[in-house]
Amino acid sequence: METLIPTINRLQEVFLTVGAEIVQLPQIVVVGSQSSGKSSVLESLVGRDFLPRGSGIVTRRPLVLQLVNVAPPQESDALNLHVYTELMFFCLSYFYIFQGISPEPIYLKIFSPKVLNLTLVDLPGITKVPVGDQPEDIEAQVQEMILSFISNPNSLILAVSPANSDLATSDALKLAREVDPDGRRTLLVISKLDLMDAGTDALEVLLGRVIPVRLGIIGVVNRSQHDINTQKSLEDSMRDEQAFLQRHYPSLVSRAGSRYLAKTLSRLLMHHIRDCLPDLKTRVTVLSSQYQARLNSYGQPVEDHSATLLQIVTKFASDYCNTIEGTARHIQTSELCGGARICYIFHETFGRTLQSIDPLGGLTDLDILTAIRNATGPRPALFVPEVSFELLVKRQIKRLEEPSMRCVELVHEELQRIIQHCSSFSTQELLRFPKLHDSIVEVVTGLLRKRLPITNEMVHNLVAIELAYINTKHPDFTDAAQVSASVNSQQVVVCTLQQILRFVIYSVQVNNRSKALDGGKRWKNEKVAEEKAPATGFGSPSKGQAINLLDTAVPVSRKLSAREQRDCEVIQRLIKCYFLIVRKSIQDSVPKTVMHFLVNYVKEHLQSELVGQLYKQPLLQELLIESQDTAQQRTEVAQMLEALKKANNIISEIRETHLW
Ligand code: GDP
Ligand code: MG
Repeated sequence: METLIPTINRLQEVFLTVGAEIVQLPQIVVVGSQSSGKSSVLESLVGRDFLPRGSGIVTRRPLVLQLVNVAPPQESDALNLHVYTELMFFCLSYFYIFQGISPEPIYLKIFSPKVLNLTLVDLPGITKVPVGDQPEDIEAQVQEMILSFISNPNSLILAVSPANSDLATSDALKLAREVDPDGRRTLLVISKLDLMDAGTDALEVLLGRVIPVRLGIIGVVNRSQHDINTQKSLEDSMRDEQAFLQRHYPSLVSRAGSRYLAKTLSRLLMHHIRDCLPDLKTRVTVLSSQYQARLNSYGQPVEDHSATLLQIVTKFASDYCNTIEGTARHIQTSELCGGARICYIFHETFGRTLQSIDPLGGLTDLDILTAIRNATGPRPALFVPEVSFELLVKRQIKRLEEPSMRCVELVHEELQRIIQHCSSFSTQELLRFPKLHDSIVEVVTGLLRKRLPITNEMVHNLVAIELAYINTKHPDFTDAAQVSASVNSQQVVVCTLQQILRFVIYSVQVNNRSKALDGGKRWKNEKVAEEKAPATGFGSPSKGQAINLLDTAVPVSRKLSAREQRDCEVIQRLIKCYFLIVRKSIQDSVPKTVMHFLVNYVKEHLQSELVGQLYKQPLLQELLIESQDTAQQRTEVAQMLEALKKANNIISEIRETHLW
């Protein structure tokens, strides 16, 4: 059992070398309000007169004391002891020089035949009011520091409370309760038993009747200031303490006093360590593998520059492509990225924007009428002129260009984002070489920038192509044309004789055919042929009667005549139908164009572009200069790993028998 404490002390030393607070080792932490006697208690535990004491905030930094029990010194050890004493005073003078308070602990190791193996932490006392040069927030500062130590679940809390003040107001107990509500690791020490008012004693308190404390309540008498001033020895002090207890607390004499406290602490710490060890072991193992992984991620120092560069570039290129393909290992779950986001842009962003465009948006009846009239020129129109339809539908088709260009832009942005994604997540090695990292980003950005205008041009052309030729013979459009034409023929009030004739012939034919034929297809074709006939008259000079001859302008608010109403309707139907055809085709062809000219192109040429621009002998050295951070971090992580391995060995040495 006794080997456990040295084990912890060794672990502490191991971690001391790397300055690690990542492993919370078991230790005893002393807390209490200022001048409650913390340092005095520690001192009696150590059996040496060495800690600064007095009124005022004397202890300003945490002091981690490792007490190591050694055999009584031989001649040869004298030097060692001397050295440690020197060290001790060096540290202690540091206390005095240091004015503010600081959470950085001072470590002190004490070898003595008079001590038990213990690790103790002395902390500044809890103060309320800043005195002299003390900072305004001294209370908060000290409190925070104390909490940081005692909240370590592996620490034993030694709460010191003087007998001459009410236990219910004990700051030490209050703080201890905060972090250890069940009292599993708090031991209460009642100091200054000798300073109680005449006629009062602490028996009730010591018996746990005032406030019960699970691990126990131990009363002590330390040296008074007078004793210190008169250089009363610790031995004398202990003897007097025993005599005092015998006189005032005879029933408790075997369960009180500094010596009993030391034994109890040692026992508690031992049990405590035993309880903590399995967790500690796990933690050290977990940390070891974490640090190993971190070390691996820093990679080895570069030897073969060419190979390293090629390897990194290839890895980056494949990560980039994989992110687009959706086969990357580092898949994000917080947001869409890469190929999935491109898909989203195509179908949700772009697709929906197109869908939301009203085919007749921005076209008023007046616009349509004006267009019709302008298209007919000086002649009054009989039929709705085709030119006006073309004019108006083009105007609508143009509206598809902007969202299409925006689609290219969004995909370009995403491709740019993938660079960041890959350079920070996937190719971790890249972080080692900031220069190479920047160059890769530059090359890929350049490639994207080069492809952007080409893709833009193509998409622009897609719309231009649609504008170049309004295909009224488009198979999906003929139906609409029929409908419009029939609306035309049925609603025309004033029409040419020729048209009436055509209409009559058509009706007769339809009647006959529907009787004679049952095959739908042929009938339909015929019908198309017939129906298209009047349309051929669109825009051609006609000698019919003019309707709007006398109108000079069409007032906005004017009620449209039946004829105007009808003309508008016809045009609107045609525009709508044709627009939908074009929209469908744009919605289909823009993503294809973007994929071909931008995404796939970049995917295919990325690797060769990177190699072409970066794989140049004179550049290699420069590109592969490691960042200083990396070099330093590698050393630090390696040291930590070393410490963890040592710690692991130390823990492993403890045989199971020690644990139970
Ligand atoms: P800390 O601020 O909690 O570390 O308290 P110290 O250990 O420095 O003690 C403060 C003062 O109280 C010192 O002058 C000690 O000599 C005195 N003191 C501490 N414990 C006792 C005790 O049990 N009896 C008497 N009479 N004085 C004590
Ligand atoms: Mg102190």
